[in-house]
Amino acid sequence: PQSANQIAAGEVVERPVSVVKELVENSLDAGAKQIEITIEGNGVPLIRVRDDGSGISPEDLPQAVLRHATSKIRRIEDLNELQTLGFRGEALPSIASVSRMDITSRQTDSVLGMNLKLIGGERCELQEMGCPPGTTITVEDLFFNTPARRKFLKTQNTEFGLISDTLGRLALARPDVSFTLKHPKQVVFQTPGRGKLLESIGVIYGQKLARQLIPLSCSYKEWTLEGYISPPDLVRSTRQEEIFIVNGRIIRSKLLSRAISEGYHTLIPNRLFPIIVIQLTLPPHEYDVNVHPTKMEIRFQNEKALAQFISEQVRKTLLDSRP
Ligand code: ADP
Ligand code: MG
Repeated sequence: PQSANQIAAGEVVERPVSVVKELVENSLDAGAKQIEITIEGNGVPLIRVRDDGSGISPEDLPQAVLRHATSKIRRIEDLNELQTLGFRGEALPSIASVSRMDITSRQTDSVLGMNLKLIGGERCELQEMGCPPGTTITVEDLFFNTPARRKFLKTQNTEFGLISDTLGRLALARPDVSFTLKHPKQVVFQTPGRGKLLESIGVIYGQKLARQLIPLSCSYKEWTLEGYISPPDLVRSTRQEEIFIVNGRIIRSKLLSRAISEGYHTLIPNRLFPIIVIQLTLPPHEYDVNVHPTKMEIRFQNEKALAQFISEQVRKTLLDSRP
């Protein structure tokens, strides 16, 4: 029932940025190489995500907005080696229950696409429709039926700021995918999607900053560490520009933050932070992503050794970069 979806929505869809994140993660899970995000106002009037991913089959489309209709877990053991970003089958029904949603999708090998329209999660139209391969989801009038939640939203600047920040992080996590953010007619940013992390950093943080960063690249057994770190004199007062990507997934980790700070040792004063974008690749069974709706917390199996590896590599990279 829609009430259950609305309750789940309270957890999954806190504000417009949560909708954007869930839709874009679905696009990534669908193997999209180009994702275009359009936002109007603070995201409440309109959020549109179009991708060139695998698409949804006509039979699956009505199912996709039902609770726990994930296509991503076949067996419960899959949870341990999960490679996709989504797996709970909660996002689409939750978002649909608090908005007017329009989904158009076509699989590459089918001739026609399908269009599904919902209001407050209730299906009101399902019809064939010509469209390019991939999926376009439009979410309008977010929280129209939950006024309390809508009231709690901040100004357009704040909400759009959160959206653009989150998309920037996702774009950094996936340099192999081209992200375009439009608000509403203007292109706010566009990453080339050529798989070059530094190009994405240039787009998101600016070319000038990107040019000052020091590349870091190393591996140990099955671990590899790739990315860019700032010289000790290029610092920030927040951890805002500290990005950790583990196997293509953005994570937060006190352990990694501390390891990085230790790598800089006394080079950076307390309460100042380097700018770093680091991709860590390790076997999926060596970490555990917490089953929480935001899926951000991570636990590493061998955390001491990993922290030591990272701080040593940061220190070594900084020393080697000295003129
Ligand atoms: P989850 O991502 O946890 O599986 P969602 O509610 O986010 O659950 O999505 C439900 C299902 O709808 C997905 O499992 C997927 O099969 C399908 N889906 C959603 N968005 C897309 C998309 N952009 N491209 C292809 N399939 C999609
Ligand atoms: Mg999902």
